[in-house]
Amino acid sequence: MQTWQIGEVRITRIIETEDTAMTAQIMLPEARPDRLLAIDWLRPHFIDARGNLISSIFSLLVESQGKRLVIDTCLGNDKPRAVPDWNERQGRFLEEIAAAGFPRESVDFVVCTHLHPDHVGWNTLLVDGAWVPTFPNARYLFSQADWDWLDQAPVTPLGDYCGDSVRPVMDAGLAQLITPDYSVTGEVRLVSTPGHSPGHLSVEINSAGSRAVITGDLMHHPCQIARPQWSSPFDFDPSKALATRQQFVTDHSDVPVLVIGTHFATPAAGYIVTHGDEQRLQVDVEPES
Ligand SMILES: [Zn+2]
Repeated sequence: MQTWQIGEVRITRIIETEDTAMTAQIMLPEARPDRLLAIDWLRPHFIDARGNLISSIFSLLVESQGKRLVIDTCLGNDKPRAVPDWNERQGRFLEEIAAAGFPRESVDFVVCTHLHPDHVGWNTLLVDGAWVPTFPNARYLFSQADWDWLDQAPVTPLGDYCGDSVRPVMDAGLAQLITPDYSVTGEVRLVSTPGHSPGHLSVEINSAGSRAVITGDLMHHPCQIARPQWSSPFDFDPSKALATRQQFVTDHSDVPVLVIGTHFATPAAGYIVTHGDEQRLQVDVEPES
């Protein structure tokens, strides 16, 4: 189980998928194998030898100032989904978070960076034919702007994931709609990175002089650090998403902030450094501040 220590904050990664499934190529159609192979630092972690994107769906368990947070809740089990790899999954997420010291009853906050089906799945689980909140003692923090968008048109081309993974949390009274910037603890802050979704959030961690940021889907793959202009067809507002991504790369280049990419394959994190006239993700060494 992969962990990071950011000052006094501990982060544990719980992986639901990591593969070269076609969904990654659909996510970034401009990221063709020949173009990816020309970006040499992407190997071996982020593309395979044939230039296929490797990507991951995972949750991050964050311990901060006595509170337990789950950042993004993956795909979930038993969910009916149009994407075959996402349909009716049967994974061991609950056993794995318990083994990591996060039994579901102990979680204080659930944060969804945005309300898309690969980030809300474990918000609920199926009990006697009904979808119930997985984390009964948590406050679920959703972006107000994302909820307003999803509530208006809850049945998307990807199915009615609102009905099984978001609305049951609202109906149970466990959701809190937030507007960034929003401090979850003194060390963990939700900030606005709009474009991929209307109210998309990233998570900034600042503890005892150490810093990290959890991207959410402002980018889907490390190749977008070198090529921020490569966009996902799932961006709600493509020009805003592009501006957010370019600003993010600029702001996080050559600074000692660990960037944890929400869909980045193992090792899933690194530092953005300038190399020649473009940026790359350096996965081993922290740059000089
Ligand atoms: Zn996603």
